[in-house]
Amino acid sequence: MSAPEILYFDNAATTAVAPQVLEAMLPYFTHTYGNPSSVHHLGRQARAAIEKARKQIAQHLQASPSEVFFTSCGTEANNTILLGAVRDLGIQRIISSPTEHHCILHSLEDLQHRHNIEVVYLSVNEKGQIDITELETLLYQANAPTTLVSLMHANNEIGTMIDLAKIATLCKAAGAYVHSDMVQTFAHYPINLQEIPLDFMASSAHKFHGPKGVGFMYMRTGNVVKSMILGGAQERNLRAGTENIAGIMGMTAAANLAYQNLEKDTQYIFSLKKYLQQQLLQNFPHIQFNGDVDGNSLYTILNVGFCQKNYPTELLLFQLDVEGICVSAGSACSSGSDIGSHVLKAIKSSPAHTAVRFSLSKFNTKSEIDMLIQRLQGILLPEKMVAHNSR
Ligand code: PLP
Repeated sequence: MSAPEILYFDNAATTAVAPQVLEAMLPYFTHTYGNPSSVHHLGRQARAAIEKARKQIAQHLQASPSEVFFTSCGTEANNTILLGAVRDLGIQRIISSPTEHHCILHSLEDLQHRHNIEVVYLSVNEKGQIDITELETLLYQANAPTTLVSLMHANNEIGTMIDLAKIATLCKAAGAYVHSDMVQTFAHYPINLQEIPLDFMASSAHKFHGPKGVGFMYMRTGNVVKSMILGGAQERNLRAGTENIAGIMGMTAAANLAYQNLEKDTQYIFSLKKYLQQQLLQNFPHIQFNGDVDGNSLYTILNVGFCQKNYPTELLLFQLDVEGICVSAGSACSSGSDIGSHVLKAIKSSPAHTAVRFSLSKFNTKSEIDMLIQRLQGILLPEKMVAHNSR
């Protein structure tokens, strides 16, 4: 029996590199391969390419090129910003949320334990929305310490988004610094940092059809912190280490491609998400959608809870994998080594449901969703498949 056709619905984990992106990267492996710090012509060519790329990334943010710094990934960008803000800007308190990515949460734990920083996690409701009134109260509390607010633009497990402009404006009005992990939203949404008064943001190329191993951080003029990695003077002393030039060129090509086709791709992916949602509702009883699914939510993510009592998530994931379906899971339960998803736990998702995250890209199709539904029926509704097959 031949292996089933791969159905890739795990685009929030990573995306395929777009062919145009790969093409844009290739010359920087074998032709313009100079070290951008070298003074000879190959080095100067590489330097010029990087600076052009920086300008293009900055344009997508409505920012200045001097505010963009290339990193090895989103994790490094988030780590550098949080650590640097504490070390170089005198931050004493960080307000965040329990549903952030682990690269934020683990950095916060470290800053709390090793640097004595006060960390406050805002309450989140069942949709994963933060409590803005609580944020406001904390920001305006008497004798408030120097504060950084760090909130992700969109949650990578359930897709819930924040009103970034509103929150950033609120934080700035109260005199706090504000950072957003925008790994799931840069190159997926228009971002205008002239209108969103962020101090910092982080992004990662492999979430928008760029290569793995490259990202960037934005630091508003005046808020620049020092490097976390010590060494050379690359990235204006903010990130030592020879630049990943092919990666930077790939990330920039991917961002350019994404912003050229933003409206078309957004509508297309959103229509796929709606179709998937409708097909799931039609075919599977008692399912629930986790997050703010019909509200302010990523158009790329649908987190689905299947009502399968005593059906461990790992078993479902294994069966999906055997059927060629690539997805990610999250489980609200917490037993033994399975500590479950911290996001589903924070939103108090029902542990009776087995949670699966489907995440879509422009490379998915409606017929892939039809195949997905059919294979899911075979796994979750075997009696229906028997009846169907014996007809
Ligand atoms: N932040 C969010 C919201 C993410 O989804 C991810 C990746 O899963 C990261 C940060 C980490 O990015 P990277 O894989 O580039 O380190």
